[in-house]
Amino acid sequence: GDRAQLIDGKAIAATIRGEIKDEIDRLRSETGGEFNPGLAVVLVGERKDSQTYVRNKKKACDDCGIVSFGTDLPDTATEEEVLEVVKKYNADPKVHGILVQLPLPAHMDEEKILTAISIQKDVDGFHPENIGKLAMRGRKPDFVCCTPKGSVELLERSGVEISGKSAVVVGRSNIVGTPAAMLLQERNATVTVVHSRTKDPERYIREADIVVAACGVAEFVKGEWLKPGCAVIDVGINAVDDATKKRGYRLVGDVHFDSAVKVAGQITPVPGGVGPMTIAMLLQNTLEGAKAARERGE
Ligand code: NDP
Repeated sequence: GDRAQLIDGKAIAATIRGEIKDEIDRLRSETGGEFNPGLAVVLVGERKDSQTYVRNKKKACDDCGIVSFGTDLPDTATEEEVLEVVKKYNADPKVHGILVQLPLPAHMDEEKILTAISIQKDVDGFHPENIGKLAMRGRKPDFVCCTPKGSVELLERSGVEISGKSAVVVGRSNIVGTPAAMLLQERNATVTVVHSRTKDPERYIREADIVVAACGVAEFVKGEWLKPGCAVIDVGINAVDDATKKRGYRLVGDVHFDSAVKVAGQITPVPGGVGPMTIAMLLQNTLEGAKAARERGE
């Protein structure tokens, strides 16, 4: 029977990264080499997964001509030491974006550290002022969180109409579900947010032209719940045991792909959907930060 069209996040992210590189090259030559976007990455502790994310982010910067700066602090660092590093980058005109890799060690106040980042360098978009502006009509945040921004970009680049449509976001976290809902609402969708206390989530999902799944529950959204022809963005990344794989697990999304692909009109795969978009949006935010700094005459 009919199968949904795949939304190829890997290919779309590669296109965007190419566009970013081209724009940086152009601005650099127009300014006689003066335009050099910079991203500072702060890593606290020795978590292997965080180290991998940081390495990938720096590599992605290199590939498109963004200068990366980095500070690695040990697990034993104090909150004050991290705040000092953030302040140093806030004041550094070569740095246009500051990213503090999460999670921070338990003895640190995450909110305090994220709030210390200048909102004009908050390329992760986690500063409460940036999230607050995103929620307000007629205000523009300096930056929008990368994963929700990438999710909406996938819809737009796949020709999915948002305005006037009904959308359901599954999940209401500060960094994914809630900003995704705000972005869709800003683009004139009528948005319902489903969360862990929602009774009968399928009742809402059944009506949705657009479903964004970000609940962190493997294969939560079933194909039978979907409205035929709808667009599905699966943000979830969950490892499930799989003895047939060499590493002993495989990655699945928050949507049951095999049933959903038979009902949806368009769907993102996991992996290869939203995942690659998150880094592409980080690079895009850093470029936007550098352009804004230049317009301010910095
Ligand atoms: P959180 O755990 O912070 O939030 C999960 C949200 O889903 C909460 O709002 C929770 O509700 C809701 N939820 C949990 N269980 C259910 C349920 N049974 N039914 C309905 N809603 C439920 O997760 P994140 O937002 O950080 O991440 C969501 C997913 O996206 C994860 O799979 C994560 O791995 C992935 N992710 C992917 C990224 C990427 O780059 N592709 C980046 C970030 C995350 P409540 O508020 O009531 O607790």
